[in-house]
Amino acid sequence: MTTRSELTFPMARLLAEPAGASRRYELRDITIPLDEELVEATPISGEFGVARTNRGLLVDGTLTTVLATECSRCLEPARVELTARLSEEVLPSIDVTTGQALDRTVEPDVVRLSDHHELDLEPLLREAILLAAPIAPLCGPDCPGLCIECGERLGAGHRAHDADDIDPRLVALRSFRVDGDAENG
Ligand SMILES: [Zn+2]
Ligand SMILES: [Zn+2]
Repeated sequence: MTTRSELTFPMARLLAEPAGASRRYELRDITIPLDEELVEATPISGEFGVARTNRGLLVDGTLTTVLATECSRCLEPARVELTARLSEEVLPSIDVTTGQALDRTVEPDVVRLSDHHELDLEPLLREAILLAAPIAPLCGPDCPGLCIECGERLGAGHRAHDADDIDPRLVALRSFRVDGDAENG
């Protein structure tokens, strides 16, 4: 098991081994740019394995982190614990035995090692985390959401509204909603 904090892993020796050969790596305290609305509140950590296949490498592992984001219901800051699965086939760019460049146009979308047989894990980590991130994160399972009358967050700190305190236009709107015949009255 190798522990590294950088995200580039040399694979030349593994590529020179027969299919089935593998290595395991441990990740600790990794922080990478994710996207504009998501950052790690806790660095990424995890473990992954790289296995030699007959045509390249198979990267497979599990990552955990805590994301700092915004609650989709009340818009307050939210922290989301996340477990992401890393699973990707990676092909070489250069034939490790002949040193010849391989034809990359055959599979243009596949992830490739660098020309120096290095695996750059950063884009794979980002993709795995963004894929596992919830579309509608919540600050907690019981988030009460926002008050439809004043727009403030409900729960502790939100004062109940008296009937008189409500904007008369909202009262009118409300009776319209409750009474289907409001248009006649
Ligand atoms: Zn919330
Ligand atoms: Zn309110």
